[in-house]
Amino acid sequence: MSARLLKGAPVAGQIQQELQARVSAFTAKAGRPPGLGIVLVGDDPASEIYVQSKLKAAGASGLRADFEHLPATAQLTDVLAAVERLNRSDVHDGILVQDPLPRAIATGTREIFDAIAPEKDIDAFHPVNVGRLVQGRAVLTACTPSGIIELLERSDIPIAGQRAVVIGRSDIVGKPMALLLLHRDATVTICHSKTQHLEAVSATADILVAAVGRPFFVRRDFVKPGATVVDVGINRVGDAAAARALLGPDSPRLAAFGTRGSVVLGDVHPEVAEVAGAMTPVPGGVGPLTIAMLLKNTLVAAEQRTGSRTR
Ligand code: NDP
Repeated sequence: MSARLLKGAPVAGQIQQELQARVSAFTAKAGRPPGLGIVLVGDDPASEIYVQSKLKAAGASGLRADFEHLPATAQLTDVLAAVERLNRSDVHDGILVQDPLPRAIATGTREIFDAIAPEKDIDAFHPVNVGRLVQGRAVLTACTPSGIIELLERSDIPIAGQRAVVIGRSDIVGKPMALLLLHRDATVTICHSKTQHLEAVSATADILVAAVGRPFFVRRDFVKPGATVVDVGINRVGDAAAARALLGPDSPRLAAFGTRGSVVLGDVHPEVAEVAGAMTPVPGGVGPLTIAMLLKNTLVAAEQRTGSRTR
């Protein structure tokens, strides 16, 4: 048996297509497009790539997108000032501070996210938005988990009444993922580094979400035959010997070392495809949906702020 591949790009494309009409309607009514303000601090190459792809996707969807790039030497107060400018701006509806921040100010990450006005908090990290999610009345929800729900629903994977296991309890992925599944009537278990018998618990899942951050952590024995497996992991492996050990010496994916000097691996081992009923690939699974949901959240924030929200 080989699992059905749940590819993110076609679903992300569908979501972005559906946004077009709402973006046009908003722009006609408000006399301006929905606006996104991105703050990037420092020069982490991966973060720059993420920001560029967000700016490109926003532009392609008819959103205004502005980018403030602060140097790696920026102080916490500089970042807070940039957030405050965007909070006050009439033309920016969504604010995103690219994570991770440079080490020197990383301890201020929570302070920075808390400073973003909740109604512009398109990552939905602010306690107000987290609280609304817990109560099942969220307007803005974390992009990666809500993208996963879109992928499951649009792929006709049943959620209600199903047993779901989420491996990972981060504020960004694991916890909001579990809550979104719970609100759709799944029976949810959250696992983490202290969970006992993780393999056995995982193998009870009809829907298994891996958000661990460890390459190929989930093996065949973690998976109930026929289960749907969602691989959130984006693990950049820069050590060719380690990648060879994980992928096998003949893997065509090792060619990435020649071009990029690293390879991106998910949290789920490819052997899982022989057991699972459906699974997301890495890359090309959950990743594209995160950006689509960011655009959707910007539009929703714009509609909400101007009182023109229709759904
Ligand atoms: P975190 O590091 O914040 O959380 C990882 C979670 O995995 C923690 O809850 C941790 O448990 C748990 N964990 C770690 N090791 C084990 C173990 N041996 N057994 C069981 N649980 C374990 O990561 P994130 O949630 O931010 O991200 C997870 C992955 O998803 C990363 O690869 C990240 O790059 C990727 N990601 C992908 C996105 C996308 O768009 N596709 C978006 C965001 C993230 P504990 O809490 O006990 O430490």
